Amino acid sequence: MSVTRRGVPPDTPAPGGAYDVVVVGAGVVGCAIARELARHPLRVALVEASGDIGEGSSKANTAILHTGFDAVPGTLESRMVREGGRLLAAYAEETGIPVERVGALLVAWDEEQLAALPRLADKARRNGYHRTRPLSAAELYAREPCLGPGALGALEVPDEAIVCPWTTPLAYATQAVRSGVDLHLDCPVEEVRPGGAAEPHRLVTRRGVLRTRFLVNACGLYADAFDALLGRKDFTVTPRRGQLVVFDKFARELVRHILLPVPGALGKGVLIAPTVYGNVMLGPTAEDLTDKAATGSTAEGLAALRAQGRRILPGLLDEEVTAVYAGLRAATGAEDYRVAAHPELRYVTVGGIRSTGLTASLALGRHTVELLASAGLGLGPERPLAPVRMPNLGEAFPRPYRDAGLIARDPAYGTIVCHCERVTLGEIRDALASTVPPASLDGLRRRTRARAGRCQGFSCGAAVRSLFEEGVR
Ligand SMILES: Cc1cc2nc3c(=O)[nH]c(=O)nc-3n(C[C@H](O)[C@H](O)[C@H](O)COP(=O)(O)OP(=O)(O)OC[C@H]3O[C@@H](n4cnc5c(N)ncnc54)[C@H](O)[C@@H]3O)c2cc1C
Repeated sequence: MSVTRRGVPPDTPAPGGAYDVVVVGAGVVGCAIARELARHPLRVALVEASGDIGEGSSKANTAILHTGFDAVPGTLESRMVREGGRLLAAYAEETGIPVERVGALLVAWDEEQLAALPRLADKARRNGYHRTRPLSAAELYAREPCLGPGALGALEVPDEAIVCPWTTPLAYATQAVRSGVDLHLDCPVEEVRPGGAAEPHRLVTRRGVLRTRFLVNACGLYADAFDALLGRKDFTVTPRRGQLVVFDKFARELVRHILLPVPGALGKGVLIAPTVYGNVMLGPTAEDLTDKAATGSTAEGLAALRAQGRRILPGLLDEEVTAVYAGLRAATGAEDYRVAAHPELRYVTVGGIRSTGLTASLALGRHTVELLASAGLGLGPERPLAPVRMPNLGEAFPRPYRDAGLIARDPAYGTIVCHCERVTLGEIRDALASTVPPASLDGLRRRTRARAGRCQGFSCGAAVRSLFEEGVR
């Protein structure tokens, strides 16, 4: 097992051979695929353009673990979200990824939306989800006393949950690497020279050439550009920006469920949801752009969110804002994912994983391995994966600073470095020494929450930086 960030990646991982499979793109989807491949005696590499895993769309989403109740029935997305949601809920329990099943309420604000709720319940049933329940206005306000005036009723979806979007891909990558996958970071694939029938593909990366028999495109927003490297032009990715506002932890008591709007033409619409870190988020917008790097927030976007948020939960807008951020969904004009096997190229594209990829990731991992097998990859027998237990970043579960026994055994867990998020020296030390260590302060934040609190690093920034740069002694 290895994680490399520099040097020529080893293109002969075993004597005389190329990799069996290279997965390009280490977002939540690529990491899940690599983890699934690690169950088999294959030589696998996960190759990523940036310096860390989960740096693309996967780091900036709404962090809902969906049931798939509102997917388009019959689509691959519907099946993957339904299966993936169950798989991730079970995996989270096994590995310590924080999940809170807070449930969702789809709130109707006018007669038209109220009339749409039975149709949504029926759609949920067609998606295999049978636990929705209508709520009267009185029941709704009893559940959510701080909701703004004028709501007419709601549809309850009790199994919608919130999840840690950062620990999830990290758990997959950690388990993949510990189970034998090579992870090559800072390694953008710039050219593909497809192999003939008996020849491996040659991937020209900025760090050198990699050879592989089979290839998976998990490039997120760039899945269309990567397809083009193999001569395919099946779809175009349009980045659909979602801006979000994160409110301070004092806002957490204002809301108990995920508050969803009745969906419109541009997707799921603006929601208010608690986060597993104890904050409340408002968003996302849905703006079709051309620039795949446009992850900035805008004054208009934030103003629109505030206007919508004020109607849903007026008290929220009086709370302090901790942060704003934006992520880009990979929209392709289709109401489904763009997943396809190309057996003649020994190549699978896993593209168009738009607004549900975190939930669907484990199911997509399984599905991709099945597609590779159908394209001719011999999987060999299955073997158990190396176990992983992730550090807990969730507010609803025990954190090290509160664990007297742990602190007695190792005082570093009693030394708080980031006071807003109560992150200890022990947690920072562990993250820096972990299987897939952070490459930046932001990577460290996603592994520990250090600098993610209400002061955004104003107080602890220098201390965290020095620990990151000099290591924990
Ligand atoms: C605002 C917003 C809200 C969302 N909310 C939710 C939600 O609540 N629940 C949910 O389940 N999903 C949600 N999603 C969707 C989810 O975040 C995505 O579906 C998921 O992150 C996509 O993962 P990915 O691995 O396909 O893409 P990415 O995370 O973008 O990963 C692709 C990776 O490929 C790399 N790459 C690209 N080209 C190359 C190359 N040539 N060589 C090497 N590497 C390359 C990139 O650097 C990147 O790291 C949301 C998305 C957004 C934007």
